[in-house]
Amino acid sequence: MTLDTVTPRTNLLGLTREEMETFFVSLGEKKFRAAQVMKWIHHEGCDDFESMTNLSKALRTRLEELAEVRGPRVVYEGASQDGTRKWVLEVEDGSYVETVLIPAEGGKRRTLCVSSQVGCSLDCSFCSTGKQGFQRNLTSAEVIGQVWVASNSFGARRDTNRPVTNVVMMGMGEPLMNYNAVVPAMKLMLDDNGYGLSKRRVTLSTSGVVPMIDKLGDELDVSLAISLHAANDELRNELVPLNRKYNIATLLDSCRRYLDKCDDTRMLTIEYTLMKDVNDQQLHAQELATLLGDLPCKINLIPFNPFPHSGYEKPSRNQVMRFQHWLEELGHTAPVRMTRGDDIDAACGQLVGRVKDRTKRHERYIQSIQIDAD
Ligand code: SAH
Ligand code: SF4
Repeated sequence: MTLDTVTPRTNLLGLTREEMETFFVSLGEKKFRAAQVMKWIHHEGCDDFESMTNLSKALRTRLEELAEVRGPRVVYEGASQDGTRKWVLEVEDGSYVETVLIPAEGGKRRTLCVSSQVGCSLDCSFCSTGKQGFQRNLTSAEVIGQVWVASNSFGARRDTNRPVTNVVMMGMGEPLMNYNAVVPAMKLMLDDNGYGLSKRRVTLSTSGVVPMIDKLGDELDVSLAISLHAANDELRNELVPLNRKYNIATLLDSCRRYLDKCDDTRMLTIEYTLMKDVNDQQLHAQELATLLGDLPCKINLIPFNPFPHSGYEKPSRNQVMRFQHWLEELGHTAPVRMTRGDDIDAACGQLVGRVKDRTKRHERYIQSIQIDAD
């Protein structure tokens, strides 16, 4: 066979229900095949058509010729004593992304932190992903593939006891700069034939791509987390360069529009990474409390996770507590979660040195946030 006669097979892993239905209709099949195949893929973790026994032999043979179910390759899987699990995944062009599953509430809640891009173009001054530059967008199969891999590691038939109960789009990358892949992947997280998660348990975190927040609100009502980190434009311009394009007032207006479109009482999550002497003083707490006013939100205080040559420092534990106290006195809920042990990092770092720093940072980060328990 010469190269030009090879047509790539359709990867069914990243197709939404509508896309899957269109695919089966194009084969002259009934629409309900879509739900059947989705359940095999996402409920059973199945990637081989031969095992899909409720399809005819003829259809299975055809699917083998035309399609595939291809997830990211697991390069490293680690479990820590506190129940945290981590995967380093190799995606199409040999890049690595990491996915971390953090248990909480005695194992009742298991939150998966999912990446949307390899690198990031937005260059926030305190973020190691930003410092590494932008490599590429992940495909929808690579985004949902992270949930697929994490779920599969718990074995098949998991609709009664979900391995992943919550997803936060807080791994590498800016999800709203990869809208066309992230939205289909989130639809699969919500779909009953996919992962069946409630919209309150799927959270997209953004540094504030305002037009895309509006667009997202027209299509989905997942929970929204905003990486604010500063309550005045001068400081935020420095920390989050995207602020020069969409300033704080513009960003908060789009958040209000987003909340208005949700058909329930939804709170925003405001992420505020505390950096020593940069944004951790009483004045900053007052400014933040005034800015947020009566916006329905919860502030997540995140002690800065240091990385080499960042130029920033983590505030002391006492300073973090003081900051939290100032906010609470001003009427704002501001949980802080201090980081736990990270006994899987050493092993991971030895195995995949290239992603070590980022992996460590994201794991610490995800341990330090608190997303709607719902
Ligand atoms: N691009 C999106 C989502 C990925 S970053 C966003 O910016 O929201 C996830 C979170 O990690 C963001 O709130 C980001 O500001 C924060 N973050 C990045 N680097 C950090 C660091 N070194 N310490 C603490 N939080 C950090
Ligand atoms: Fe990108 Fe988010 Fe890092 Fe900023 S904080 S550089 S938007 S990944």
